[in-house]
Amino acid sequence: MTTTRVLVIGAGLAGSEAAWFLASRGVSVALVEVKTLKLNPAQKIKNFAELVCTNSLKSLDPDSAHGLLKTEMRALGSLVLAVADVTSVPAGDALAVDRELFSAEITKRLHAHPNIKVVAGEAGDPMALMRELECQHVIVATGPLTTTPLEEWMVANLGAEDIYFYDAIAPVVDADTLDYSKLYYKDRHRKPDERADYLNAPMNKEQYDLFVGELAKAEKVPPKDFEDWKFFESCLPIDLMAERGPETARFSCMKPIGLELPDGSEPWAVVQLRKENLAGAAFNLVGFQTRLTYKEQVRVFRMIPGLEEASFIHLGSCHRNSFLNSRRLLNASMTSNKFPELSFAGQITGVEGYTESASMGLYVASQLLFRIQGKPELSWPVETGIGALVNYVMTIEKPTPSNINFGLLPAIEMTKEQRKSGPRKKVRKSLAAARAREVFETFRVQL
Ligand SMILES: Cc1cc2nc3c(=O)[nH]c(=O)nc-3n(C[C@H](O)[C@H](O)[C@H](O)COP(=O)(O)OP(=O)(O)OC[C@H]3O[C@@H](n4cnc5c(N)ncnc54)[C@H](O)[C@@H]3O)c2cc1C
Repeated sequence: MTTTRVLVIGAGLAGSEAAWFLASRGVSVALVEVKTLKLNPAQKIKNFAELVCTNSLKSLDPDSAHGLLKTEMRALGSLVLAVADVTSVPAGDALAVDRELFSAEITKRLHAHPNIKVVAGEAGDPMALMRELECQHVIVATGPLTTTPLEEWMVANLGAEDIYFYDAIAPVVDADTLDYSKLYYKDRHRKPDERADYLNAPMNKEQYDLFVGELAKAEKVPPKDFEDWKFFESCLPIDLMAERGPETARFSCMKPIGLELPDGSEPWAVVQLRKENLAGAAFNLVGFQTRLTYKEQVRVFRMIPGLEEASFIHLGSCHRNSFLNSRRLLNASMTSNKFPELSFAGQITGVEGYTESASMGLYVASQLLFRIQGKPELSWPVETGIGALVNYVMTIEKPTPSNINFGLLPAIEMTKEQRKSGPRKKVRKSLAAARAREVFETFRVQL
């Protein structure tokens, strides 16, 4: 047992994991959570680690991206997964839970742990609270709906320009499912023979008018009562542009200027696709953040030439979400560059999803434990699920919260035999998952 004491703020997915990890390894933890005093509008129960929407922690298939994240989390002694296992409900390949039992059991175990002191309270200044509770380190794991006093402290102390309160996500499509015969590479204003990063889907007037008409009338997700949708003019949802007028998108993200077709003619409008990752395994629809329901996104975005059969790695959305520009504010252990005693974990670091957030709680706690023990912190291999998430948030220039997906892992070079052994996408994922497990097995001896 060390004499070091750690303050964990927020008993959500990440905070519960971090507190449990440290406490189970002999570190004394003060766990501060506001929800027993007041719930935010997305929360319904007072217990910890509430799953505010779906009750699914996604796939158990070891060859899926979520499956490999689970393998790594289990090796780190994940509380979330251990409790999910005993409160699970049948859900095929997925790990779904009875959300009430799940949260009740997590809360019970955290309260019962001899090294954890649970404190009901709302954190404002985390550094002051750390000193008040006689701790030497603090992990902020307050999630996408961090309360106002703490948000205000972050803005004042970490810098307003690197903290985001709103998330407008554009959809991402799987590169293997595009019809390249209808698409062409060209960067705006670059000559056609110059190397280009953007893949373009051109539309003629008829296609554009039809597309924009469908965007305007498609079903939208209504804002939740805690979301006051005030959009930045430079980041308008594509469907809002369509509602403003038929030409708005054509003078914004769909403008054709500088994007001549290979025959030199100018299309009426263009949808630009940008590589999501170095491997080019996925493409982001540039400027296509949207309020459309998931079902409508699939229907309407498949009207884009070349995307008729597209498979969506994730769909677009607009929702309240507090998160940091981790690349600028934190080091690779998710510790503040400005306050060495302060770390962040969970969705606030720029990942998205229950499992991803929980895995970041484990990651940050494991790095902090090394620090407490006087050992050098570890550099997690990017081939692993957790390493890929860390690498993503620490390198992405324009922070966009992401789920775990194979596009975050380094590309797999397939041999001729492997290419022939089955559907390309499936083989590639299975090879990446196998490599992740192998790399993690070697790496975990250091943990
Ligand atoms: C409305 C909504 C729906 C979502 N749906 C899904 C979904 O279906 N599937 C999915 O995978 N992901 C979903 N997410 C995304 C996200 O993965 C989850 O929100 C996840 O719970 C994030 O984990 P976390 O530990 O970072 O934060 P949380 O689980 O939100 O935990 C943060 C905790 O900190 C507490 N807290 C906040 N501020 C303070 C403070 N100042 N002092 C003390 N305590 C504080 C909160 O009460 C909360 O208990 C959703 C997010 C939102 C907002």
